[in-house]
Amino acid sequence: TTTPHHTHERLPSRLVSVTVQASAKINLYLRVGPLRSDGYHDLATVFHAVSLHDEITVEESEHLSLEICGEQAEKVPLDGDNLAVRAAMLLARRLGREPGVRIVLRKGIPVAGGMAGGSADAAATLIACAALWHAELPHDELMTLAAQLGSDVPFCVVGGTALGHGRGERLAPVLAAGPWYWVLALADGGLSTPQVYAEFDRRRASGDGELREPGDGEPLDVPAALLSALRDGDPKRLGSLLHNDLQDAAVALRPALGRVLEAGLDGGALGGIVCGSGPTCAFLVSDQDAAVDLAARLAGSGWVRAVRCATGPAAGARILARTAG
Ligand code: ATP
Repeated sequence: TTTPHHTHERLPSRLVSVTVQASAKINLYLRVGPLRSDGYHDLATVFHAVSLHDEITVEESEHLSLEICGEQAEKVPLDGDNLAVRAAMLLARRLGREPGVRIVLRKGIPVAGGMAGGSADAAATLIACAALWHAELPHDELMTLAAQLGSDVPFCVVGGTALGHGRGERLAPVLAAGPWYWVLALADGGLSTPQVYAEFDRRRASGDGELREPGDGEPLDVPAALLSALRDGDPKRLGSLLHNDLQDAAVALRPALGRVLEAGLDGGALGGIVCGSGPTCAFLVSDQDAAVDLAARLAGSGWVRAVRCATGPAAGARILARTAG
């Protein structure tokens, strides 16, 4: 016989949709080691998540589908090449289930801009589908799946500020005061990451002194001064220490970036850098007012497609909303 309280027992609620936000990243420092036999380069980098973000909603559905809206949506692949689709399929395979899910992606991160937009979407989809499917994956396992999707995906899961080694997938936390104020200069058209690395390899092989490989036994590491500037919350010092080994290659492929960097520094930035493989440029300023000022100057310079003000460190992939059925 059923006792009365059984009839009032709450059924476990079934989720019908989950929305996750994921941030773009800047590399505050990026040192590229020698080409490895697997085709990747070893890196020493400092990742920093900023408030520019994409949003992903996943909904229960019979079939896997993807819709994209927002900035530059037309430039993003809708098929199995899309990192959001690949993330849903990878997680479904790991869980031994069908990947039936409708994915709606709202882009806010520039496409092929060097800010890990696709990686952010992969991270967001992993978190969203894991919640939708009630998968209780240990964090380590989630990070392993993330690394299978791309070198920047594990960082996009955790966000904040972190040291990255290996291909960028081996992470360690960094103490970083904040907030840090950034002005982002968005370019017309993207740059292909493999092309920028190829140009980098070509320049290094041709003996450009600036692009010296770390010597035998010399660790591929991040300068202690940069880590202490981050810890102390000193934007002036941090601005002077920003560095990206890929910057010269990106500028060689897109000479206008040289003008953008110059315009940012002339406009009062404490430091400026090409984001990852470019072509977005990030400028560090001291506060919100300085950001608004520099953004206006850059917008008026004629060298950029658009400007955005952002702050960091921002969170990693996080759930914004869940709807239960
Ligand atoms: P990377 O992470 O390779 O440095 P990026 O940050 O410069 O790349 P992304 O916005 O990730 O730039 O896009 C790189 C390419 O990845 C795009 O040109 C596009 O063809 C492909 N891509 C796959 N999935 C996505 C996605 N969800 N959003 C944007 N681009 C995607």
